[in-house]
Parts: sequence; structure tokens; C-alpha cells
Amino acid sequence: MSVLEIRDLHVSVETDQGTKPILKGVDLTIRKGETHAIMGPNGSGKSTLAYTIAGHPKYTVESGSITLDGEDVLAMSVDERARAGLFLAMQYPVEIPGVTVTNFLRTAKTAIDGEAPSVRSWIKDVRSAMSDLRMDSTFAERNVNEGFSGGEKKRHEILQLELLKPSFAVLDETDSGLDVDALKIVSEGVNRAKENTGLGVLLITHYTRILRYIKPDFVHVFVAGKVAEQGGPELADRLEDEGYDRYLSDAPVA
Ligand code: ADP
Ligand code: MG
Ligand code: MG
Repeated sequence: MSVLEIRDLHVSVETDQGTKPILKGVDLTIRKGETHAIMGPNGSGKSTLAYTIAGHPKYTVESGSITLDGEDVLAMSVDERARAGLFLAMQYPVEIPGVTVTNFLRTAKTAIDGEAPSVRSWIKDVRSAMSDLRMDSTFAERNVNEGFSGGEKKRHEILQLELLKPSFAVLDETDSGLDVDALKIVSEGVNRAKENTGLGVLLITHYTRILRYIKPDFVHVFVAGKVAEQGGPELADRLEDEGYDRYLSDAPVA
């Protein structure tokens, strides 16, 4: 059983004012097939955790570890992380001029699997995944992220998720900017990946709305760079009613 483990993780970011500590001792264990929601107020460090798992150069790991089945993720390049089975939605946020969605997906699939997919089955898989996500077939011939709307970017992320078949996915604010219909379609895609491949999910969100469609097994409340409380889905229900006030009033002044 595959497991992603984060141990006593301390991360800082370089700012104009110098080095700023953000993550202050994060512990998380995510097994394949599990969905963990990371919730918390703005500025609590949720995206910093996502960027650190993704290997973003701006974030410095001061101490602690991230391992995937015992392998040191922090020692891996961004490409190696993808080949090891980590899917990081923010990994390819940029426009890629002249590279179509089709070619991008095929190149990524080839890099991750170590061999090119057979043309016939690949075209079938891409078409079927696009149709599941209610994406127009012309989308495949557009350049990656060029003029994509917020909703198209999210669908493209989930399209990658369904085709690349990672072991673990980190989804940061996948719900932001989506109307209810798009949110349902995107959530169904994540749920299909969970069912079909036993995907483990780290679902980062400020709002509880997406958790109506993607059911978490565990909920972690992030405050001031660490997990302040954890529980099951009922914790998300409580946050929906009460918000984050109780954590903020208790939080020590940084
Ligand atoms: P969240 O995703 O929970 O809203 P972030 O991880 O984005 O939180 O931010 C946590 C804190 O770290 C904030 O105070 C934010 O201003 C700071 N921070 C994050 N990234 C940077 C950066 N690249 N430069 C400067 N400050 C940053
Ligand atoms: Mg934020
Ligand atoms: Mg964020």
C-alpha cells in the first residue's frame, strides 16, 4: 500500500524582507485511496505545503521530511516526483506556446510511463476522458493554458489526472472560480480517478463547498503553518457552520 508521509516539516520563503518561516512542523500521512482535506484561513500556509510537495524553488525546506513509500521526495527533481506518482496540479500552470493539449498530454504520459502509449488506445482514452469532462473536442488542439478560462484550466488539470494516473494528487483550490455545474464535473473526474486507480488525494480548500462532491476521509485544519486540529468529515461540517474564528482567536501571535 502506497503512502505519502510528511514529518515535522518546516518551510520558509524568501521575501524582500528576508527569510520568512511559514510551515512550522507539519505532520500528515496519506495512504493511497484516502482523501484528506486541508482546510484553513487565508495565509495559513496551505499553498506553501502544495508548492513544497511540488518542488517549487521559492520554498526552502528548513527541516523535516516528505517521503513516498520511504523514498525521499525532497531529493527528487520535479520530473522525478511526477514519475514517482505524484500529481501536482500547479506543476504546469504556464502557457506553453505552440504545444497543443494533445501533444502535451502525450509527452507527459510518455515521460511518466517511460514509453509512449499506443496511438489507438491513447486517442480513445483522451476522447473518452474529454467527453466525461464535457470538454469540446476542439480543446485538444488548443495551446496549453493559452487563453484558457478558469474553468478550462481546472478541467485540463483533471484531464491530466485521469490520463496520467498518478498515485497521489495535490489539488490546491480546485474549486476556486468554478460555478456549481463545473464544480460537479470536475469533482466527478476526481471521484472517477479515486475509483479507477485508488488515487490518494490531498484536497486543499478554504471553503467546504467542494467537500459536498468529493468526500474527505480526514479533515485537517491548518492554522499559522501547522495542523491545529484533525478529524473526520464531521469537522468540515462544523467549519461550514462556525468558520475559522475559534482557531484564530486561540492562535498565538506570530
Ligand atoms: P494559504 O494558501 O493558506 O492562503 P499561503 O501558503 O499562500 O497560504 O501563504 C502563507 C503565508 O506565506 C502568507 O503570509 C503569505 O503571504 C506568505 N507567502 C507565501 N508565499 C510567499 C511568497 N512567494 N513570497 C512572500 N510571502 C509568501
Ligand atoms: Mg491564500
Ligand atoms: Mg492558498
